Amino acid sequence: MKNRIKGVLERIAEAAERAGREPTEVGLVAVTKTHPAAAVREAADAGLTVFGENYIQEARDKIEELADLDLSWHFIGHLQRNKAKYAVRMFDLIHSVDSLKLAKEIDKEAAKHGKIQDVLVQVNLGNEPTKSGTGQDEAAALCREASRLDHIKIRGLMTLPPFFDEPEKARPFFAALRRLRDQIAALSIEGVFMEALSMGMTGDFEAAVEEGATWVRIGTAIFGARQ
Ligand SMILES: *Cc1c(COP(=O)(O)O)cnc(C)c1O
Repeated sequence: MKNRIKGVLERIAEAAERAGREPTEVGLVAVTKTHPAAAVREAADAGLTVFGENYIQEARDKIEELADLDLSWHFIGHLQRNKAKYAVRMFDLIHSVDSLKLAKEIDKEAAKHGKIQDVLVQVNLGNEPTKSGTGQDEAAALCREASRLDHIKIRGLMTLPPFFDEPEKARPFFAALRRLRDQIAALSIEGVFMEALSMGMTGDFEAAVEEGATWVRIGTAIFGARQ
């Protein structure tokens, strides 16, 4: 696994350099869904510190088992409102806020914990009915409305483009997310920080980094194929 991680980090750094960016601007979220706690431990031993999970129950078990390690956990899956309370307890960053209702629920739970929850707004750029995410045209309004909540802080945007065999086909979606980020940033909404772009997975992360990703979410290239 060490070599796989090294390879991924090198590819991220090379993609950053091609785009004239600093490799340190790009964070790696190691996506651990379906993989056991032992695999996370191995990745942590190899130096990774940020891990992404899609399901609350699965994350809970793993996080408990790995409580002796100093790890940062991100939630990258679809979050149901009734699970917001668990998400707030476990995750430093929630990548998948896609409605004001969900933002309000997270805010309410964060307030109970005396926490200010960092979140990203997930945008469904392909307007795919099977994917969550706010529409491209609704994203700015969601940021504006959610910015009025005291216990969440919007840090940027996330997207999951349609699946393509070729990474180059995903590139226009990454570029579109970056443009949307810049447009929302230009609105200078108080309390909205458009610093993060979460985009790029095993099949397409180099294109995402070239287009400005600050978080790439990578599972397969590190842990192998999922069952
Ligand atoms: C599973 C998942 C990933 C990682 O996908 P890989 O192709 O295994 O790198 C990234 N982001 C999200 C939202 C995911 O659900």
